[in-house]
Amino acid sequence: MREDPTAEVTELLRQLIRNGCVNDGTPGSGHEHRSADVLHGVLEGPGVDVERFEPTPGRESVVARIEGRDPSAPTLVLLGHTDVVPANPEGWRRDPFGGELVDGVVWGRGAVDMLNLTASMALAVRRLADGGWRPAGTLVFAGVADEEALGEHGARWLADHAWDEAGGDYVITESGGVPVKTPAGTRLHVAVGEKGAMWAKLRVRGTPGHASRPLRTDNALVTAARVVERLGAFRGPVLITEAWERYVAGMAFEPELAAALLDPARLDDLVETLPRLDLARQAHACTHTTMAPTVLHAGTKTNVIPDRVDLEVDIRSLPGQTADEVRALLDEAVGPELAGHVEVLEVIDDPATLSSVDTPLWDAVAEVSGRLAPGTTCLPTMTTGATDARFYRRRGATAYGFGLFSDRMTMAQYSAMFHGDDERIDVDSLRLSVQLWEELARSFLG
Ligand SMILES: [Zn+2]
Repeated sequence: MREDPTAEVTELLRQLIRNGCVNDGTPGSGHEHRSADVLHGVLEGPGVDVERFEPTPGRESVVARIEGRDPSAPTLVLLGHTDVVPANPEGWRRDPFGGELVDGVVWGRGAVDMLNLTASMALAVRRLADGGWRPAGTLVFAGVADEEALGEHGARWLADHAWDEAGGDYVITESGGVPVKTPAGTRLHVAVGEKGAMWAKLRVRGTPGHASRPLRTDNALVTAARVVERLGAFRGPVLITEAWERYVAGMAFEPELAAALLDPARLDDLVETLPRLDLARQAHACTHTTMAPTVLHAGTKTNVIPDRVDLEVDIRSLPGQTADEVRALLDEAVGPELAGHVEVLEVIDDPATLSSVDTPLWDAVAEVSGRLAPGTTCLPTMTTGATDARFYRRRGATAYGFGLFSDRMTMAQYSAMFHGDDERIDVDSLRLSVQLWEELARSFLG
């Protein structure tokens, strides 16, 4: 048994945070080459082949392999991203890019999304190779750029152009593994699917004119406000999926609450009034196609009635829904009265993806996590956000989102820290994750 990995993984995470690979969605952001350098330094050495891919300048991903002995045995990919979303230091108690270690807790952007896992995955690969491990199946680590945008400079690109190097039959990436207490015991969520990210661009039209005489003008901004209002209020049809039924059963809610959470006739009223806001949002998102108006560009000058407003809407679709179905829901949300003013310019076709739980990887995850976190049970869930898992699922891989966290992390903290302020993680969670990847790889790849 090698030495305790806590110190090493903690230092690696702090370095990745300090690299500040902030992805603002523009091709020139991210600068993930910095963290590719650091990860390369950790991974290189006997037993591991390391390659780097830079489809766009600075947007570099690193791929490491421990080649299996048996070409017919499966390949397991540990997939971690190296980019992070921006952070506004004003809301933070510590420097978001300082990587400070205070009382056994590492602070900084990416501490839970998901530099913690990326660091622990890379270190686990190095430790396995150092131990002389020669598995039957192949272990791949991919530390990728651009997860926080659309993956076109990272996992999406690798899945399309470097599948032989970075692809595989089974994948583990974010997010899951936070211990959740239920009356029936502690549950560890494993993300087996995720909603589609069918982001839409709308254009609202009006007629320009002098803003000093606004009466009965066709002001695109006023019309857009009504469109925004309608989108914000839109609830749409309730769809109880098998994934949601499984989740409600697994969480062992009080029988009355469980029944309401599964009843299409009662669900909408329930989520409007349920005091448990986190559960209300989760229940709503897992049973509806959601629409959130998020970006609005309008107007040119204070004294000009605007003739054009561009509006972006974050739409998240359920498994099985096509882009055409989402468009129809969008039309319904806008409504016939405003439809004549609104043009749907684009709906990104990025549908939901789902993996089976009837797989050897599920069995291995359940067995190993039960050993490392005694008394816990794995529960398959669908995440509402998008991860790089979707690019692998679409190539036929089974992909799960998982990790392990200590009891110091609660689900409420975890959700609040994702893209939020004061993102941080305790070092016990980091150690647990390194152990998880090592034991999972040994158990699954032989
Ligand atoms: Zn992430």
